[in-house]
Amino acid sequence: MRIILKSPAELQKMRSSGLLVHRLLDQLRSRVKPGVTTLDLENFAAKMIADAGAKPAFKGYRGFPAVLCTSVNFEIIHGIPSAKRVLREGDILKIDTGVILDGYYGDSATTIAVGKVSPEVQKLMDVTLESLWEGIKQAQVGGHLHDICGTIQDYVEGHGYSVVREFVGHGVGRQLHEDPSVPNYRSGPNPRLKEGMVLAIEPMVNQGKADTKVLADKWTAVAVDGRCSAHFEHTVALTKQGPWVLTQP
Ligand code: MG
Ligand code: MG
Repeated sequence: MRIILKSPAELQKMRSSGLLVHRLLDQLRSRVKPGVTTLDLENFAAKMIADAGAKPAFKGYRGFPAVLCTSVNFEIIHGIPSAKRVLREGDILKIDTGVILDGYYGDSATTIAVGKVSPEVQKLMDVTLESLWEGIKQAQVGGHLHDICGTIQDYVEGHGYSVVREFVGHGVGRQLHEDPSVPNYRSGPNPRLKEGMVLAIEPMVNQGKADTKVLADKWTAVAVDGRCSAHFEHTVALTKQGPWVLTQP
C-alpha cells in the first residue's frame, strides 16, 4: 500500500476540482424531474465540464463510456446514461461523477429523488447521507481508517440497512483511485490517518440485502433482491484542523 500525502498547494488544486464537481451535481439536481432521460443529464454534464476547462474523470476510465454514472432505484452504481432511461415520479437517481482540473481529481456522488418518493425510500436516502457525514467526522489526523469504515457500518446497520461490500471508497489525487481502499465496513488494512491524506468516502447502502451483481452491460451493479440502493460521496482532505470536505462549499 502506498498512500500519497498531498501538500497544501496540492489541496488547493483539489479544492478547485472538488468545487467544480459540486457545482456540476448542483446543476444536475435542478434538472432531474419526471420525463428527463439520463442521457439528457450526461449531455449537460459533458458540456459543463468542457466549458470549465476540465476533463471528465470517468469517460474512458477502464472503458467506461460516459462522464456520469447514472443509476436508478435498485441499480447501485456504474449505470450508463441512456436515451431509453426516462426518469419517472418516485424513482431515485444516483449520480456519481468526477473531473480532472489542473491534474487533480474531484469525485462526488449524490442520490436525488425524482418528484415525490415513498417515505421508506426517503428514509434510506437520509440514513445513507447521515452515514457519510458520520464517517467524515471520523476523518481525523491521528485516528485510524477503520474509525471511518466502522462508524459508517454501525450507523447503516443500526438502521436495518445493508452496506455494499464489492464497491468501496478510495484515496484520490493525481489518480482517480489511490491507496487506501475505504470500505464502508471494517475490513482490510487499518492505516493511521495522516495530514495530507485525501479520501473519497462513499457509502453505498441497500434497503434489503447487501448482495450485488453486474448486469450484461458489464458496468451496472445492482442489488440482487431488486430493492432500492442509495449512494453519497465526498472527497475529503485530512488537515490538522479536521476534515476538509473538498466537494462541498
Ligand atoms: Mg464517485
Ligand atoms: Mg469514488
